[in-house]
Amino acid sequence: MLCLILNNYGSKKGNSTIVNPSPPWFNRPAPLAISSHIAIIGGGIAGVSMALHLKKQGYKVTLIEKKQRLMSGASGNPGAILEPFLGLGKSIEKEFYRTAYLYALEFYKKMGRGVFKNCGLVKTAQDKQEITRFKKISDQYCEDILTFKNDTLFLPQSGIVKPDKMIDLIDESFQVILNTTVDEIKYNAPFWSLFDQDKKTILTCDALIVCNSYNILKFEQTNPLSLDQVSGQISYIKNHLDLKNILSGSGYLTPAIKTDVGMVHICGATFDKNDVIAITKEAHLENLQKSPIDIDNNMIVGGRRKIRAMSPDHLPIVGPAPIFHRYMSDYQQIHHGIGHKKFPNAAYYENLFICTALGARGFVTAPLLAKYLSAVITGNEPDLDQRTSNALHPGRFIIRKLSKK
Ligand SMILES: Cc1cc2nc3c(=O)[nH]c(=O)nc-3n(C[C@H](O)[C@H](O)[C@H](O)COP(=O)(O)OP(=O)(O)OC[C@H]3O[C@@H](n4cnc5c(N)ncnc54)[C@H](O)[C@@H]3O)c2cc1C
Repeated sequence: MLCLILNNYGSKKGNSTIVNPSPPWFNRPAPLAISSHIAIIGGGIAGVSMALHLKKQGYKVTLIEKKQRLMSGASGNPGAILEPFLGLGKSIEKEFYRTAYLYALEFYKKMGRGVFKNCGLVKTAQDKQEITRFKKISDQYCEDILTFKNDTLFLPQSGIVKPDKMIDLIDESFQVILNTTVDEIKYNAPFWSLFDQDKKTILTCDALIVCNSYNILKFEQTNPLSLDQVSGQISYIKNHLDLKNILSGSGYLTPAIKTDVGMVHICGATFDKNDVIAITKEAHLENLQKSPIDIDNNMIVGGRRKIRAMSPDHLPIVGPAPIFHRYMSDYQQIHHGIGHKKFPNAAYYENLFICTALGARGFVTAPLLAKYLSAVITGNEPDLDQRTSNALHPGRFIIRKLSKK
């Protein structure tokens, strides 16, 4: 029933199935006029990608970040690797990550100025079963994306994104307000107002996009979202290996890259369902244990630990912000089936949008998510098909819950 409701929304008429473009709970909101002013909360890769895409569409954009510098949260690692989720058969996740990966390569490469370094990625199998799986995977992707050789997968186009180089590129194309925490958001038609901790107005705008990762739960409107905080640590390893490619297995190891502590290999990353941000020895050891090459403990020269936001199904949460209590009342009956009654269209907060839960692969997905959400906002046809956009929709968890009742 759940799959039917989420993926194959349609009704039978005679012998043919009429596939509706979208069930009412995933409807698209009305387009926003291009003259509008959009504020974005959160200056990580989600917010920055969003700002760049909306600016290109012609909107006036203001990005608000609580830290002194953009890319200070999870997005601030000295180098982020581009490794898509690789799947077998046909799945929404597989297609989503394939599209996201290709678009991310295009997006970062276009920026030039050292934002992206192509070095290729070698993925090593952990056991014989995985070798068989890799072989099958290679049959399902084109050679541009990956090849299978010597029991490993090779992703020739992959590489490392340098977030600090992206900051250098953000010129006056949109307004950035740093050092400012948005504490509360309020809608007073037709404007959104943003307030700081002293209840002072930061700004008013026509539309608002919340891109502040797990801190999205602090806003009353978006608090009912299901999100986990998953802390992660990377270890900086003294430059001593002549690595040409990123090596990936149960952990990963990069060629040497420039950081505050000199040229280092990045080895990572840990996953812990907690909000610990202090670097731990245990996490360093875990990284070394998972490293594709044996590395001695005394080669660690530093590290970084931050928190990722993860959704229950590990896909990002992107789209218009549902009025959650209205979803609860409007769709209470959907467990009886889609044809039970005529359900009303989705109730959304006016011009409020969400882009969060980028999980462990935010640098792969953020550009495509920004392109998708800017198409939803302008009313243009998004590149993602309806099934994929439904699978990312912020209302999907409530709908799943109500479908199972
Ligand atoms: C250790 C580690 C290694 C990783 N490695 C990779 C990798 O190699 N490749 C990859 O693709 N992904 C990687 N990831 C995942 C990736 O970093 C995340 O998916 C991505 O950074 C999430 O981006 P974001 O913009 O949603 O969140 P963030 O980067 O955390 O940005 C959120 C921003 O919002 C700001 N903010 C929060 N609340 C407020 C508020 N109220 N007002 C104003 N501003 C606010 C924060 O200060 C922060 O700057 C890694 C993550 C970790 C933790």
